[in-house]
Amino acid sequence: MRDIIEWIKNANKVKLGTFPTPLHRLERMEKELDYEGIYIKRDDLTGLGAGGNKIRSLEFILGDAINKNCNLIIASGPPQSNLCSLTASACAKLGLKCVIVNNGEEPDKLQGNMLLNYILNAEIHSIGIATKEERDLYVKNLYIKYKDEGNRPYVIENGATTGMGALGYVSATIEMQKQCLEGKLPINTIFAPGGNGGVAAGLIYGNALLGLPFQINIISVEDHKACLTEHILKTIDELVEITQIPFNFKLEDVCNITDKYRGEGWGVNTEESTDAVFRFAQQEGIFIENIYNSKVLVGMEAAIKNAEVTGGVCYLHTGGFGSLFSQF
Ligand SMILES: *Cc1c(COP(=O)(O)O)cnc(C)c1O
Repeated sequence: MRDIIEWIKNANKVKLGTFPTPLHRLERMEKELDYEGIYIKRDDLTGLGAGGNKIRSLEFILGDAINKNCNLIIASGPPQSNLCSLTASACAKLGLKCVIVNNGEEPDKLQGNMLLNYILNAEIHSIGIATKEERDLYVKNLYIKYKDEGNRPYVIENGATTGMGALGYVSATIEMQKQCLEGKLPINTIFAPGGNGGVAAGLIYGNALLGLPFQINIISVEDHKACLTEHILKTIDELVEITQIPFNFKLEDVCNITDKYRGEGWGVNTEESTDAVFRFAQQEGIFIENIYNSKVLVGMEAAIKNAEVTGGVCYLHTGGFGSLFSQF
């Protein structure tokens, strides 16, 4: 079997972020919960734009775009999409044109990620209320239009949740294992969000190929467990397709997935998750937002309180700082 560490080292990618991101203890939370060994992996500090997990994915995806000699990147998502805004920042750094397609109404006042997109001079297409299928069709037509005009466009598919995007979190798992070994950090459990499942797939696949150094706990912020599981498995299949390194595990043997903290799903906060935004900021001086990391925090704290974990635990902060400014 080929070595995943070697594979990632040699993979085609472009440098966008500053790595490794910090990994440090949450001392006040430890005191509050009377638990020793609560850590945070600061992927909110990936070093470009407002920061966040998508920078890791974009290193591989835009690496592919540059390899294909593309000069224009099309990203799509809801108005406060972290992916869209981070793509715009990455395009600025790389000197590429960025086109963003948002489904949703254009707001009266530009806030959060939309303000950043404006400052970054991304070309914004607000297409109003639309389904994902309608948005994808709009993107497809834009792609054809740009191609006809002599550009070399590249489309970022599915909010960067693809096998190629998930390589970012295979790489992050390798980085975390190295940090734990070098710093002698006793972390054995990671808590991370599951939206479309890209972060989850990368973590689960990478962790399995590294010999399971961590227990991976995925907190769904969007779909029911069965649906998220399906998305994760699909993305792992794509990872295998790309790396040609097989994944010979049953998913339930190498991770825990829970949908207990998702509330009504993506973008709909629960009372506990909103409370977590305030509590965590006031406890640690670190900002999380309503959609992803607040729900993970609620799930992690519950697992600690209910003694479902032992030893060092790590909260993977995936960012989303840009969107926070539109949430309250
Ligand atoms: C996109 C995103 C995620 C994870 O999404 P997946 O689709 O599950 O990979 C998590 N947190 C933030 C802040 C994000 O922007």
